[in-house]
Amino acid sequence: MGMTIAWLDEKDRLTVDLSEVSGWNDCEPKVLIEEASLAIDSVDVNDDRMAQITLTKPMELGKDATLIWEDHVFPIYPRKVVRTAWFDDVYDASEEQLGFHYTKSQTSFHVWAPTAVEVKLLLNNTTHPMSRKSCGAWHLTVAGDWHGALYAYIVTVNGKEQLVNDPYAIAMTANSGSSVVLDLTSTDPDQFRELFYPSIPAEEAVIYELHVRDATVAESSGVKHKGKFLGLTEKNTCTQAGLSTGLSYIASLGCTHVQLLPIQDYARVDEENPKDGYNWGYDPLYYFVPEGSYATDATIPSVRVKECKQMIHAIHQQGLAVIIDVVFNHVFDQAESALEKLVPGYYFRYHSDGQLSNGSGTGNDLATERKMVRKLILDCVNYWIEEYQVDGFRFDLMGLIDVKTMQMVREHCLEVDRPILLLGEGWELDTQLAAEQMASLAQADQLLGISFFNDQFRDVVKGSQFDAVDTGFVNGHGKHHNRMDQLVSGCCQSRFNFAMFLDPKQSVNYVECHDNHTLWDRLLLSNPELDDHARIRMHQLATGLVILSQGIPFLHAGQEFYRTKQGDENSYLSGDAINQLDWERRAFHDDNVDWVRSLIALRKKYYLFRMKTVREIDDHLHMIVAPDPVLGFMLMGVEEDIVVFVNPTDQDRLVEMPATGRWQKCLSNLSKASRIVSCQIDLSTKLGAYELAVWVKRRG
Ligand code: CA
Repeated sequence: MGMTIAWLDEKDRLTVDLSEVSGWNDCEPKVLIEEASLAIDSVDVNDDRMAQITLTKPMELGKDATLIWEDHVFPIYPRKVVRTAWFDDVYDASEEQLGFHYTKSQTSFHVWAPTAVEVKLLLNNTTHPMSRKSCGAWHLTVAGDWHGALYAYIVTVNGKEQLVNDPYAIAMTANSGSSVVLDLTSTDPDQFRELFYPSIPAEEAVIYELHVRDATVAESSGVKHKGKFLGLTEKNTCTQAGLSTGLSYIASLGCTHVQLLPIQDYARVDEENPKDGYNWGYDPLYYFVPEGSYATDATIPSVRVKECKQMIHAIHQQGLAVIIDVVFNHVFDQAESALEKLVPGYYFRYHSDGQLSNGSGTGNDLATERKMVRKLILDCVNYWIEEYQVDGFRFDLMGLIDVKTMQMVREHCLEVDRPILLLGEGWELDTQLAAEQMASLAQADQLLGISFFNDQFRDVVKGSQFDAVDTGFVNGHGKHHNRMDQLVSGCCQSRFNFAMFLDPKQSVNYVECHDNHTLWDRLLLSNPELDDHARIRMHQLATGLVILSQGIPFLHAGQEFYRTKQGDENSYLSGDAINQLDWERRAFHDDNVDWVRSLIALRKKYYLFRMKTVREIDDHLHMIVAPDPVLGFMLMGVEEDIVVFVNPTDQDRLVEMPATGRWQKCLSNLSKASRIVSCQIDLSTKLGAYELAVWVKRRG
């Protein structure tokens, strides 16, 4: 029989299960906090011998408390009380600076653990008692230079004493063994904070999603530090045949933002033997620490910090901004996480029966709506902006984060001296919080300034994500063509059944990302009867639509050379052979790389492809009546008009230009050279099978 516990479930109410307790009778119980007695208002024992004891005032936490009943002594431990509004208010440590603050003469430590009865600092094998503030933060300042010292907290809570790493640790030993004190002043590359690189507002962004290891790990990359942060600092690398690879290649595409799959410390790659494992990194451990397997030496805590900064600096030097993918919706191992050990039951969402909420599908959901979880997210976002100079965040499963937290992130980012791009997955998931409080697509109207992966765009263009053989506009002979007007105009106009977004900047347009099949692999499944030539054309249409539609274009690394994962639908731990960028393939499909470059260049050249508001789109974007299922639209500008036609069929089609004048065909996936075509009004022009073509006409 286990020890019976009196659980504090509300600020003034205990629950005790007496069914296993013998010799219990009706005598009055007593509650003691340390030695002092606490008055009881009422005692209620039901037929199942479950006792509810109501106190006359809230119980003070962080002190030894016991319930004495007859000759039984029960320890009182906080349980559901940590998830009450009362707890969030009374133990609000939002204003505390958690983690350590280092100087050469002393280091101070702060950790929040309001339900702990004792917290000690273990600093290089020496134990120091810490003092408690009323908000539940424990603190201590230790004289001396502690740069490089290992530390942890010895926390006594709910009857257990445990050694806990600092959830605010900024440096760790290999494989998240121990938190480390680090003097950050020597970790910056030269000119890290002075470097000028373009400030890119959301409407100008073209995002390129990249995994640090995939980027350079292939033999064919010609990169020295393969699979490492430093691999993305090497310039002018190339294949044996002399075609560009790595960072220089990426910069040559014309994208504006590199979005990195998680680079915060994650669990499932052995940092001392990274070649033995592989992971995308959606298994977060320490949010303020760069992942060690990307460092040349994970055992020296400063190395990953320096090398991560070097990578970001090198990307900035190419004129590119850096977005990091942050996984604030769950932790790798809830029971073993520092958060759970410090404040049991607080950081996660629970169902009323005490089971963990699992909207993330990974076993736990972080309760972002609680003050100190929100603080952790805000502090972390701020830290990566300030310390690592990142320019944006992609929120994994943002639909699990509450609206208010995302609004506060946005407000915070508006204060930064450069544009910070915020985007996320707004999927609506089954988590223990009201749907209208979640930062899902349905709440986009409350989240201006935050962009969402547009699943409608993805599914209409190539077929439903949830049916691998389904087809869409480009691979289904123009299927869904009646929805294309909504897609190309950013899904923000009220003239359609519903506007998904308040403005086009909220729409992240994509047909491929790290999840699910690559577009190439998908086309092999959805269109097996066709040859590669036809699939190449469909692929070109899909990528073309991504880049020329209103909203933010999003490309998955390698999409521009028909990336394949050999049919692997979820390659999160499939290893390098499946995941690595294949630079031989990039060389082989250099023509298509050029196609994507020219699409991006066109988008950058004409403001009409990247309008900021619904009003502008209303005024300047007009659909052209074309023979079904051909898509045509016209962008009417001040200096020029632009016409885009897309033919999703395998037959030539005749289309009519919408106005007389000299139209210049400036882009087509069927021909490289641009040529001048003069058209009269009503004069038909031919559109080839699977052709996406753009014409421009100067005004006046
Ligand atoms: Ca790790």
